[in-house]
Amino acid sequence: METFVSKVYIRDKEEIFEISEKTYLENSSAFETRVYERRGYDLGDSLLNFIYSDFEKTFECLKSLENLFKNLKNKKDTENSIEQLKNIAEYIEKAHFFFSGISNFIFTAIAELKVNSESLKSICNIEEEMKIFIPKVFDFIQTCLDADYETPLSVEQRYLKFLSIDNNNKYFPRQNSFTLELIPLHDLDFDRVAINMNIKNLRDSDVELTSLTFAETFEPRHIFEYSKDIFDYVYFFCFYMMKNNIKLRKCKSCGKYFTILGNSNIEYCNRQAENSSKTCREIGSVKKYQDKAFKNPINQLFNRAYKKHFARIKYKLSTKARFQLWSETARDMRDKCLSGEISFEEFQSWLDDTDSHF
Ligand SMILES: [Zn+2]
Repeated sequence: METFVSKVYIRDKEEIFEISEKTYLENSSAFETRVYERRGYDLGDSLLNFIYSDFEKTFECLKSLENLFKNLKNKKDTENSIEQLKNIAEYIEKAHFFFSGISNFIFTAIAELKVNSESLKSICNIEEEMKIFIPKVFDFIQTCLDADYETPLSVEQRYLKFLSIDNNNKYFPRQNSFTLELIPLHDLDFDRVAINMNIKNLRDSDVELTSLTFAETFEPRHIFEYSKDIFDYVYFFCFYMMKNNIKLRKCKSCGKYFTILGNSNIEYCNRQAENSSKTCREIGSVKKYQDKAFKNPINQLFNRAYKKHFARIKYKLSTKARFQLWSETARDMRDKCLSGEISFEEFQSWLDDTDSHF
């Protein structure tokens, strides 16, 4: 018997998502897993994409499932319905990996030509549940993961504080089904991944033990309630980040959270800025440089004098040519001052001197 399974683990600050085919060996509880898709994202990205995405079209697709399966049951427009179901399964899995469980569910239902009505009902309700759930996730992030949230509380105390807020307890469980699993250290071509097999099979297999490492792994196991699977992915990342003290920060440009890895002074995210080909970080670093340069007292002194001299042309107290001559020399003097060749006082007195004869 073969089944499709999705799972996620974190390896070296990277999120790895896998979809694989599990084949049980004959007369045994052991199985072989053949990974047919593996994708990596930066840590935190899947959670953040999930909370900021607009899933309107995904929800629309999910709501149409009921009718399509009804068609299948009534043998009405079968071919076309199967085609549409396949398209939906592919679309939602691409919309976000957290929907991959539903995608697997659709493919299995097509193969078996029957569908579980309880699961279908749960899938149709996902939009409503997410409307309540997503704001809770934002609360969690702000209380437990926000790097700039000013509080004397420890991370454990912050979590307790979050749980004590109305009903959060109900949405953030104390227990979950994350396991510690042996996973590949690098992206090996695991044609016959035997890590899920029992010890005897593992010994006999050609997987080198040195190429494996432990990782906290989440493999959805809810059989009927698909919203739970989706929420469990969210818990997995929320809890992983909380436990490993990985913080998030609101971008100073777009206001969305991003993961802080390494340098904790970064203020801008890596998302593409609205109406721009640049990222918030690229725009931010230029702006920061300009702000810093503008605040420099040498530049401030220069800018004041520049404006004064420029205004003189307007009032016919000077000419464009004289102004140009002055500004060229003034720029040289400013640069000399910025590089430390002359002192601030020397620059100031030069400006004062030239004030009268230009
Ligand atoms: Zn941003």
